[in-house]
Amino acid sequence: MRIDLHTHSNVSDGTETPSELMRAASAAGLDVVALTDHDQTSGWDEAAAQARKLGLGFVPGMEITCQDAHGISVHLLSYLHDPTYQPLLDELDRALNSRIIRARRIVDLLAEDYPISWDLVGEHCLPGSTVGRPHIADALVAAGVVENRNEAFANILSSRSRYYVSHPAVNPATAVQLVREAGGVPVFAHPKASARGRVVPDSTFYEMIDAGLAGVEVHHRDNTAEGKAWLLDLAAEHDLIVTGSSDYHGTGKLNRLGENLTEPGMLQRIIDEGTGTQTSI
Ligand code: AMP
Ligand code: FE
Ligand code: FE
Ligand code: ZN
Repeated sequence: MRIDLHTHSNVSDGTETPSELMRAASAAGLDVVALTDHDQTSGWDEAAAQARKLGLGFVPGMEITCQDAHGISVHLLSYLHDPTYQPLLDELDRALNSRIIRARRIVDLLAEDYPISWDLVGEHCLPGSTVGRPHIADALVAAGVVENRNEAFANILSSRSRYYVSHPAVNPATAVQLVREAGGVPVFAHPKASARGRVVPDSTFYEMIDAGLAGVEVHHRDNTAEGKAWLLDLAAEHDLIVTGSSDYHGTGKLNRLGENLTEPGMLQRIIDEGTGTQTSI
């Protein structure tokens, strides 16, 4: 069984529609795939319908933008939650709005030095999709400033760049609790991705575990080798689910479907714990 539990469509910052993504997953030889767009679930229905046609197992998911007490960015994967649970929807609305405000600020800063505008970013972000730096990267590509998203993230858009602006987001322990209330299964995404920016202190892990964290995404290309070893120890000590995933974003990122996989027994634990919505496996 080839199981990949973290992918993005153009409902957020992936480059393929949910249907195209399901076709790519099937072509890549996956048996089960999760769609985990940033801060929204509007791709679920299309993806589930396409997966059914292809005989592909589908797990509905989402990646929630959070920020811990030290101002460090945390991404929390949620699987099988009820997408209509209002307290969670309220937080997601706040995230989507603060992302827009923050993206506009980044674009204003960039526009002082580069030929880009908010309108140009809009040409690279579908109406209603979750805006992020990848869409700004696409505008920079269109303006001829960089070759691709990766080059944009290497300096201009990195979290260490002078054009970087952060945005307020829900505390990760609060998000864990909301996901559980919605019947979902919360998994900490790429927790040791030190190349992306600061990683959270151990205390943030313990707060999330106390709030009901179900698992950690260990096998992800952005986690350091020492980080993976530390996460496996943490998972053993606290009986956490261990996942592995590609974090595929279509042509927007180097990550390839199936480059990291989740063991069937771990997927079974997610299915057993998730009560907010159905899988189609
Ligand atoms: P944001 O959500 O606006 O903070 O932007 C972060 C997003 O950019 C993440 O979801 C990543 O998927 C994406 N990202 C980070 N690094 C890269 C990269 N090198 N190439 C393409 N996309 C990236
Ligand atoms: Fe992304
Ligand atoms: Fe992420
Ligand atoms: Zn992701």
